[in-house]
Amino acid sequence: MAHPHAFDLFVIGAGSGGVRAARMAAQRGARVAIAEAAALGGTCVNVGCIPKKLYSYAAHYAQDFRDAAGFGWDAPEPRHDWERLRANRAEEIGRLNRVYQRLLEDAGVRILRGWASFVDAHGVRLETTHGAEHFSAEHVLVATGGTPVTPDIPGAQLGVSSDSMFDLDPFPARLAVVGGGYIACEFASIFRGLGAQVHQLYRGEQILRGFDEEVRHFAAAELAKHGIDLRLRTDVRSLARAGADIELALDTGQRLQADTVLFATGRAPNVNGLGLEAAGVRQGPGGAIVVDAQYRTSVPSVYAIGDVTARLQLTPVALAEAMVVVDSLFGEGRRQMDYDIVPTAVFTHPNIGTVGMTEQQARERFGRVTVYRSEFKALKHTLSGSTERCLMKLVVQDATDRVVGLHMVGPDAGEIVQGFAVAMKAGATKAVFDATLGIHPTIAEEFVTMREAAR
Ligand code: FAD
Repeated sequence: MAHPHAFDLFVIGAGSGGVRAARMAAQRGARVAIAEAAALGGTCVNVGCIPKKLYSYAAHYAQDFRDAAGFGWDAPEPRHDWERLRANRAEEIGRLNRVYQRLLEDAGVRILRGWASFVDAHGVRLETTHGAEHFSAEHVLVATGGTPVTPDIPGAQLGVSSDSMFDLDPFPARLAVVGGGYIACEFASIFRGLGAQVHQLYRGEQILRGFDEEVRHFAAAELAKHGIDLRLRTDVRSLARAGADIELALDTGQRLQADTVLFATGRAPNVNGLGLEAAGVRQGPGGAIVVDAQYRTSVPSVYAIGDVTARLQLTPVALAEAMVVVDSLFGEGRRQMDYDIVPTAVFTHPNIGTVGMTEQQARERFGRVTVYRSEFKALKHTLSGSTERCLMKLVVQDATDRVVGLHMVGPDAGEIVQGFAVAMKAGATKAVFDATLGIHPTIAEEFVTMREAAR
C-alpha cells in the first residue's frame, strides 16, 4: 500500500528530546525527518547544560588553587585566559554537533535545516535559505524547547540572556545577574569563580524557589561566602548607558554599575511562528502545549515533549518523554513517565543536589515526617582553610519509613545524589540507609550515618 505521507514521524527541533525521539523511531524502522533552525543538539548542547558545566569546571579551579596552599603547594598567582576557555568550549561544542549529526544520519533520519511551521495537522512548511518546502507526516512531534524571557523595563535591550553568556567579549569584570532561579545562581557562581565581581539581584524573599527551604537559605549563605553580592527583595527598574558602563536603577533606590547584565528571569515555551493555530493544537498558560500522559496534543497526529510543554525543564526529562512517545507510536506503548522522583543538581559553588520531596512538600503530603540533617565542614577544608560547609538532609515518611526526600549542598552533590536517587526509586527506607555501610572518609557517607532526628 502506498504511504499517504512522506514520513511516519516529522520532528520539529533537534534538541535533547527531538534528537532522541527521531533516532529511536528511525531505529525501529520508522521513516523520520527532523527539522532544526539552529545548531543540532539544542539548548543543552549549545547554550545550556554542557557549556555551562564546562565553565563551572573552569570556575572551580580558582577555589582549587586557593585550597592547595594549605596542603603545601606554592604556585604563582594563577591567571585565567577567558579567550582560551571560549575557544576550547566552541571546539568541543562543534565536535558534539557533529556527533549528533552522525547519530541521526546513522539511524537513517533525514536532517532538514530550516524553520518549520504547521500548515495543518499533518503538513509542515520548512523555510530554508533556498525558499520554502512542504512535507507531510503521519505524526508530527513538537520538540522546540524554550526561550529566555527578559523583563519589560526601560533599557532591557542593554541586558543579555543566558544564550549570550558563553561568548561574552570581553570578559565582564563586573556582572549583574537578575534572577534567583538555578540558571541565575549558576552563572553568578561561574563568573565569580572566573574572577568577576558579581551582584545577584532577586526580587523574591529567597533564591531557588521550589527547592527545600533549608537548602535555599543554606545555599544563599554559601554563595555570599564565595563573594557573590546577593541582594534579595531587590528588583531592577531600568537599565541605562553611562559611558562604558550599564547603570541599573534598583527599586531600593540604589544604583549599580556593571559591564554585563544577565537577565535569568525565566524561560517561555518556544511556540512563536510555529503555526500551532493552523493545526489546531491547544495551548495552556504562557503558550505551553497541552499534552496527555502519552504526550499527544489536542490534535491526534501531533505530539509535544520537553520544555515546550513547560513541565520539568531538564534534559533527562525530555529524553524520557521522547522514549514514551516512540514507544507509544512504534513500540508496545508500555512506558509511563514518573515525575515524582526526578533528581536534579544546581552547579553552583558549592553544588546542590536534590531528589524527591522537600521537607515542606512531604509534611503537606504525609503529615508526619522525620527529618535528619547534618551540617559540617568537609575534611578537605580542615587544611584548605576554606570556610565552606556542607548540608545533608533526609526526609523520612513516618508511616512507611521511606526516604522521600534527600538534599545536599556540598562538593559533587550532583554526582552523589545520582546514586542515592536509585535507592529512592527502589523505595529504600531509612532502615535500609542505616543498614548500609559508609565509605570512609567521604562526604557521602553522612547520608548513611545520620542517626539522630533533627525534628
Ligand atoms: P531544546 O533542547 O531547547 O531544543 C529545541 C530545538 O528546537 C532548538 O535547537 C531550536 O533551535 C529548535 N527549534 C525551535 N523552534 C523551531 C522551529 N520552528 N523549526 C526548527 N527548529 C526549531 N537541564 C539539565 O538537565 N541539566 C542542566 O544542567 C541544565 N542546564 C541548563 C542551563 C541553561 C543555561 C539552560 C538554558 C538550560 C539548562 N537545562 C539543563 C535545561 C535543558 O537544556 C532543557 O531542559 C532541554 O534542552 C530541553 O530539551 P528540548 O528538547 O525540550 O528543547
